[in-house]
Amino acid sequence: MAPSSPTKIAVIGCGLMGSALARAFAAAGHEVAVWNRTPSKAKAVGGGTLAFENLIEAVSGRELVVVSLCNYAACFELFSSKGVTSALAGKTLVQLTSGSPADARSGLEWAAGNGVEYLDAAILAYPSFVATDYATVFYAGSRAVFDRHLGTLQAIARNSLYVDEKIGSAATLDCAILEAYYGGSLAFLHAAAMCKAEGLDPKIFFSQKSSFLGLISVTADAAQGMIERNDFSGDQCSLNTHVAAIEHIVRLSKDARLSARFPTELLDNYKRALGAGLGDKELPAVFRTLVQD
Ligand code: NAP
Repeated sequence: MAPSSPTKIAVIGCGLMGSALARAFAAAGHEVAVWNRTPSKAKAVGGGTLAFENLIEAVSGRELVVVSLCNYAACFELFSSKGVTSALAGKTLVQLTSGSPADARSGLEWAAGNGVEYLDAAILAYPSFVATDYATVFYAGSRAVFDRHLGTLQAIARNSLYVDEKIGSAATLDCAILEAYYGGSLAFLHAAAMCKAEGLDPKIFFSQKSSFLGLISVTADAAQGMIERNDFSGDQCSLNTHVAAIEHIVRLSKDARLSARFPTELLDNYKRALGAGLGDKELPAVFRTLVQD
């Protein structure tokens, strides 16, 4: 159903993600202008969007400017180009380019100095997930600005979550989730390689994914409570025992002539906790060796 009052939106950046975002806003009934450094990509977005070759014209008369570029350096270069800064003044800029919390702070500083309202956002989705229930977008910045635009922003993800006023909070949460994702993915790929090297079909390993995902889930819940209490004692399995298990993984990798870099790095981290006298604590005690007081 078309919104009762469509929002005039400009989407800057028509790469894989920007194009999907623009089409989702347009499909929800909003008036969407698109601009891309390489104009042919803006023209190819389609879906009822209007392609502009001139960035100032693309943002002119728009209430909401959504940015999806490769990095913040490209954004700053663009925003500070002739006439663009003043064209953005008075608008709300939603920064959907991935970055670090420090990038987000620079973004807010730039926006505040140039009369631009600013939300820093992080999208947790592949382009094909945009506008489906699998897409999540985290937002940081002014709650009032977020609330004012939520109805429009839900066109790209119904799961549009406000994290915190601290402008770096969406990027922090994104980096944290992505670290768990990339680290976990590397772990299961190495695990599949171990199975293959030992002549065990990796599909047997993948058929057991609920075992390792379940273990990670239970451990995450336990870790949360232990970190809150700063107490890592327990009666399930000591770090000493976990380290022995990781040593088997390193040995298997070396015997099978696989890269042992990943399990060796794991072992180093867990052993550092033993060195810190935490051998009789539960696994999440490793947290203590990762933070600096
Ligand atoms: P992409 O397809 O490679 O698109 C990159 C965009 O950045 C293009 O529009 C490109 O313009 C533009 N760009 C690069 N350098 C530029 C410059 N100096 N000045 C102006 N424009 C420049 O990447 P993407 O997958 O859409 O990713 C865009 C953002 O979404 C990234 O921050 C990414 O981390 C984030 N993201 C992507 C995904 C995903 O699954 N794809 C998921 C989550 C978050 P040209 O076309 O002219 O090169």
